[in-house]
Amino acid sequence: MTDVRSLLAERLAAVRGRIAGAARRAGRDPAAVTLVAVTKTVTPAVAAVVFELGAADLGEGRPQELWKKAAALPAARWHLVGHLQRNKLDRTVPLAALIHSVDSERLLAALDDFGRKRGTPVPVLLEVNCSREAAKGGLRPEDLPALADTLPARSGVEVRGLMTMAAYADDPEAARPTFAELRQLRDRLRGVTGLPLPELSMGMSGDFEVGVEEGATLVRVGTTLFEGLPALE
Ligand SMILES: *Cc1c(COP(=O)(O)O)cnc(C)c1O
Repeated sequence: MTDVRSLLAERLAAVRGRIAGAARRAGRDPAAVTLVAVTKTVTPAVAAVVFELGAADLGEGRPQELWKKAAALPAARWHLVGHLQRNKLDRTVPLAALIHSVDSERLLAALDDFGRKRGTPVPVLLEVNCSREAAKGGLRPEDLPALADTLPARSGVEVRGLMTMAAYADDPEAARPTFAELRQLRDRLRGVTGLPLPELSMGMSGDFEVGVEEGATLVRVGTTLFEGLPALE
């Protein structure tokens, strides 16, 4: 594990340096960007190492994997970045600091019910399919105005902002219009709802610097940190 530790320390410092550089280029405070280390491809032991190295926010794509890793590492702030099935709310919501991937109005309604019953709103982001790829989940940008009207009444959820995934591309610049659109959608939604909507979750290994330049407050980085490290079976 010492090799893993020094390798991860190096990679973590490099990613943090690139986030800071992108923030400075955009005239932003690097401290306004939270790195979510997406541990979905590695063992809980590797996730524990990156947490010990100072990555306090960890992300998982699948609820079952989040349950397992959060049990092994309860001190981390766990983010769910992948699809949440409504029958998994009970086990997932109490473990997640933020659910990035509310991809339908049905899921939002179920989370709203859950939050009302427990008496504390569930912190969430709305996932928007800005790149409009058919294979990708998420709300359509054109669905947001109708959804906006329902948000003030949803006291069981705390909608903290928006999340998107750019289309896969070799050139990170290809993601820029998608990220700029997410920011504009957030600004408009803020205008009509009056909610502060402080968070924009955008940017992965291939495009996180562009995400930061376009205003990301959360970047979700997996491969760049964990490539080649002990994988899940
Ligand atoms: C896997 C995943 C990430 C991390 O992607 P990398 O390209 O490995 O950095 C980020 N966000 C979501 C939603 C993911 O599923």
